[in-house]
This record gives sequence, structure tokens and C-alpha cells, in this order.
Amino acid sequence: MKLEELTIKELKQGYKYDEINGVYKCNTCDLEFVDGEIYDIDGKLYEAKLAIKRHLLKKHERNFNYLLNLDSKYNNLTSNQKELLDYFYQGLSDKEIAKILNVTTSTIRHQRFMFKEKALKAKLYLAIYEQALLNKVKEKDELIPIHKGATMVDNRYVTINEEKEHIINTCFTSLDPLKLKEFPAREKKKIVILGEIIKLFKKDKEYLEKEVNEILKGVYDDFPLIRRYLIEYGFMDRKKDCSLYWVR
Ligand SMILES: [Zn+2]
Repeated sequence: MKLEELTIKELKQGYKYDEINGVYKCNTCDLEFVDGEIYDIDGKLYEAKLAIKRHLLKKHERNFNYLLNLDSKYNNLTSNQKELLDYFYQGLSDKEIAKILNVTTSTIRHQRFMFKEKALKAKLYLAIYEQALLNKVKEKDELIPIHKGATMVDNRYVTINEEKEHIINTCFTSLDPLKLKEFPAREKKKIVILGEIIKLFKKDKEYLEKEVNEILKGVYDDFPLIRRYLIEYGFMDRKKDCSLYWVR
């Protein structure tokens, strides 16, 4: 399990949902459940989201215990603290815990208070830390939204803004009018470039093939190649007989 890749919510629920690939992944054993597929668990059929929950219950008993006893340099709980937290988790009262541990009720109450203090310290620190360091990273590396007609939704559609800018600046010799240097081989570059070229077309307008060619000719000599990629990558659609084209 990689702590830095999981949010508090994901740590608590025991799995992570990867939206881009539509995959639920178990924090403990990395087992994956794919959205849209059906899983057979003990003779019953489950959709991915329910299947991962069944998996957690069946294979890892309590996610709480997994986190509590996680062998990590970030887990600095003593064994006494772990025992106490486990009792709290089970819903035992201060009085009941005091009896088990043979201490006074006020000792347990004090411990409960100390745990809360620790949590508040961690909370305030997180709020400060995330603003100081994480937000800045986020703005720069923001994910570019997947375009509407994406035929294959996968990692190739996710490009950070900085990278996108770099691709645009290096692949086009001119941006106004748009002139392509050469059609790149790398998938990621293709998507960024096609994303720019499609802006030359109006949405909600139907184009004759001749008109499409006319627009693309200005951008690149091998305009049939661009036309084909716009269709193949889901930026554009056309009638079966190629008589009309439109932006998806
Ligand atoms: Zn698992």
C-alpha cells in the first residue's frame, strides 16, 4: 500500500477508485475490480463496487485492524494505544475498558481526550500543509478534461497543462494561422495536436468533405491523415458515405 497515493477517505474505506480507468483497487493486496464487469464471489454475482466491498470483508476482515497494525514508519502508535483504540473501535464504554485494563474510568477518559488532541494537531497540520504545498502542484499539473467524444478513455487522454503547452509550442510552427510542423508518432502528442486542430471547426455545424479538406490543408500538407485521425480518435464524426462531417 502506498500511503502517499491514498486519501484519508480511501484509507478508511480500504480501496481506491481510479476514475480514468474505472478500476477499484484493494489497498491491502492490490487486487482490481473493473467497472462494468461482474464478479462471482461464493456463487453470488456482484458489480465491481460491491465486489470490492465483499472482497474486503472476506479477505481482510477489518480494514481498521489492517491500518491499526500497519508496519510503517508513519505508524507511531504504541501497543497500549493500539489496544485502547481497538476497544474504542469495538464500541466499548470507558467503564468497560477500565475494567478490562484494571485502571480507573478517568484514566480511560483522559486517554480518549489525548487521542482527540492528537487528531486535532494532525488535522490543523494537514490543512496548513495541503494549502502550502499541494494546491500549487495541483494548479500546474491540473488534469486536462477528457474531450467529449473520446473513443478510448485511458492515460493517453490525461496530459498535464505544462506538458500540453510544451507539445503545442514544439509541434506547431505557427499558432495563428495554425501550421503543423510534422505529425508526431507519440500518442500523447497526437491527442494534444488533434485537440488544437479541432478548434478550427465550429460545433453544431456540418461540413462537406471538401470543406474539411480545405480547412485542414492550411494546417498540414498530408490533410487526409489529419482527417482520418480526427475520426479515429473521436474528435469528429461523419456519415458512413463520408458526405458530411461534424465535431463530436
Ligand atoms: Zn485485497
